[in-house]
Amino acid sequence: MGASAPMEHIRADVAILGGGITGLWLLAHLRGRGYSAVLCESRALGAGQTLSSQGIIHGGLKYALTGTLSAASRALMHMPALWRDCLGGTRAPDLSGARLLSPHQHLVCGFRLAGFFASRLLRGRVSRVDAGALPAPFAEALGRTVDGGVYQLDEPVVDVRSVLAELARAHADALLAVEQEGTMLLQEAGDVRGLEVRARDGRRLRIHGARVVLCAGAGNERLGHQLPSGAAPMQRRPLCMVMLRGALPALYAHWLGSGAAPRVTVTSHRDARGTPVWYVGGALAESGVALDPGAQVERARDELSRLVPGVDLKACAGAVLSVDRAEGRHASGQRPDGPVVAHAGTVTQVWPTKLAFAPRVAEQVESRLSLEGLRPCRVPMPSTEGWPRPALAPLPWDEARTWC
Ligand SMILES: Cc1cc2nc3c(=O)[nH]c(=O)nc-3n(C[C@H](O)[C@H](O)[C@H](O)COP(=O)(O)OP(=O)(O)OC[C@H]3O[C@@H](n4cnc5c(N)ncnc54)[C@H](O)[C@@H]3O)c2cc1C
Repeated sequence: MGASAPMEHIRADVAILGGGITGLWLLAHLRGRGYSAVLCESRALGAGQTLSSQGIIHGGLKYALTGTLSAASRALMHMPALWRDCLGGTRAPDLSGARLLSPHQHLVCGFRLAGFFASRLLRGRVSRVDAGALPAPFAEALGRTVDGGVYQLDEPVVDVRSVLAELARAHADALLAVEQEGTMLLQEAGDVRGLEVRARDGRRLRIHGARVVLCAGAGNERLGHQLPSGAAPMQRRPLCMVMLRGALPALYAHWLGSGAAPRVTVTSHRDARGTPVWYVGGALAESGVALDPGAQVERARDELSRLVPGVDLKACAGAVLSVDRAEGRHASGQRPDGPVVAHAGTVTQVWPTKLAFAPRVAEQVESRLSLEGLRPCRVPMPSTEGWPRPALAPLPWDEARTWC
């Protein structure tokens, strides 16, 4: 089909731009409430931060190590239970087909965490694990008794790609693959009244009457420039994550250094061939952004060989992923405490801050729609039959070309 393809037209209550966790969860939430909604993705589902994430459903425990519940830990507190209900199929969206990698995380610490146990709100969400009660692969990996101890945190780790696959499968008829360059906010009398998009084959589509929600992660900045009021401020915080591939046990753990922020966080995955992969983040990923890939991999190997002396890391191949966290701007330049949801007329710009917050964002957007008097079922779900659908993006370890 050529660039002069006739314009197609549909009406919808909401048009979402961006198919990461925020856009897909919002789509499922709104459609579940009876709204007609479509989602436009310019690369592949999960191609931004979502499939680069470690999949930890934070409950704020790592921000509460002193026993004081910070704003961030309060905001995150209910997220693990909410996600667990969705994974168990007892709450919408039904994620019972998605994979849980681990029901909890461990925290390894060189000092005793008295604060945790002093706080009533934290009780039941963290427990000290006796050396003899550690899972065998973890005990062998640690290879010794840890001075301060090992704690079990009530924070599940999900297989993020399987979560996206479930959401996409349930709403495939509402997903549109679009060209980034061909997306235009339709403006009328100083406000946005819908969206025009173009497919790779030149087909063009106008989505009329729709409230637009920008869930495009780092892409929000560029899209926001089309807004009459301008883009909401965004910040990027770069990371250099490390991937180690080889005969590795499944570990899900944070290691604390001398401070309260995890020095290293490890989650365990498998590549497309079934080989185990450790995905390594934490302060190591923050402080390694200026290093070349080989030096960053070596640094991770050095640090981990001290933390898990029982694991032979020399035979593992290593690679890095450089990726930015895209967030609503915080005055301090640090991580915002919760999701950032900015409304400008009929357009909403969203940065969830954490994967775990996707359900909160969906609730906040729905509240805003209700506040504006937009009730579900205003228009029937439009047919987008025949329009190209976005694929699911690959995982970082299946995409990495250079291993050392
Ligand atoms: C390395 C790393 C590890 C992390 N680990 C965790 C963790 O363990 N737990 C946690 O809770 N959080 C974690 N996070 C944070 C979490 O990943 C993000 O907060 C979350 O994934 C953001 O999701 P999103 O859908 O808003 O954006 P993104 O995932 O960035 O998705 C944006 C989507 O929009 C698309 N897009 C961009 N421009 C356009 C356009 N013009 N038109 C259409 N589509 C467009 C992109 O292709 C992409 O698919 C991590 C982040 C990083 C970087």
